[in-house]
Amino acid sequence: MAKLDISVVVPLYNEEESLPELCAWIGRVMDENGYKYEVILVDDGSTDTSWDVVKELSEENENVKGVKFNRNYGKSAALHTGFAKVKGDVVITMDADLQDSPDEIPELYDMIMKDGYDLVSGWKKKRYDPVSKTIPSKFFNRVTQYMSGIKLHDFNCGLKAYKRIVVKHISVHGEMHRYIPVLAKWRGFDKITEKVVEHRARKYGVTKFGLERFINGFLDLLSLTFVTRFRKKPMHFFGTFGTLSFFIGLLITLFVIGEKLYKLASGLPLREITEQPLFYIALVLLVIGTQLFLTGFVAEMISMNSHKKDDYLVIETTEES
Ligand code: UDP
Ligand code: MG
Repeated sequence: MAKLDISVVVPLYNEEESLPELCAWIGRVMDENGYKYEVILVDDGSTDTSWDVVKELSEENENVKGVKFNRNYGKSAALHTGFAKVKGDVVITMDADLQDSPDEIPELYDMIMKDGYDLVSGWKKKRYDPVSKTIPSKFFNRVTQYMSGIKLHDFNCGLKAYKRIVVKHISVHGEMHRYIPVLAKWRGFDKITEKVVEHRARKYGVTKFGLERFINGFLDLLSLTFVTRFRKKPMHFFGTFGTLSFFIGLLITLFVIGEKLYKLASGLPLREITEQPLFYIALVLLVIGTQLFLTGFVAEMISMNSHKKDDYLVIETTEES
């Protein structure tokens, strides 16, 4: 197998008009710079003629390869499948809608190969999108920055460049394509930077994501943060809150009993324990505490049985292979 410099992965869903222009442009940039390359077009279950276009393009140009899903699985699935196939030293992802410019490829390539970055994310500093998208997006990026500690302005930019090893060791599912830099960082690939890229208005077709992207995006970030921090030790989370809740409940119970005994002994006016709000608070805290504890145990057992084989990435050994 010949060595490849660059693999370009393009997820696409109903982008028939854009594809010929996109492939021609990528091919032009690659030839001008003398890169050996492949373009992997992943058809995410398009319902228009995109797949026919992909087949035509791959017949015209041997560097163009196509993969087609039986139905629409989403951008993350398309990227994941593309990543499994790439052979190039540098992997570049790009949207199919011509909003990202292939002219950025040489600079991105150099940032990976010469400057040694693991991941370079595009930053659409000047955007050609409606405000309904740009304003929530600002907020989304702030929150992600804060929660992940990665200083990027534009996590969700479709144009990104990676070292091959990075994409082979992250798993992009659900709608996690928005958080690839976060996934990469948590996998130990922390040389991450950004590059201002040119952004253009969509030329053909329509956007495939609505406003629900922001709600889903936020929920994904929460579960991602939670899972990464506590996947291997769920008891640390549930156990802490469970113990706390149970302990406070217990203290209150002791207090209520103590108060009753004291009043009995000293002949003060009594009231039923069930007439005191504290009694109910204690009850709730005890029950919640026990529940959290049990959840922790169950989660702990699930996590014990779910360690994936390739979980730990070994990059060097002293033994010869
Ligand atoms: N896309 C995909 N599967 C989907 C939705 C989108 O492969 O279910 C592709 C789409 O064809 C495009 C890229 O993901 O190449 C980005 O989508 P889009 O341009 O609609 O997103 P936006 O630019 O509005 O964020
Ligand atoms: Mg787009």
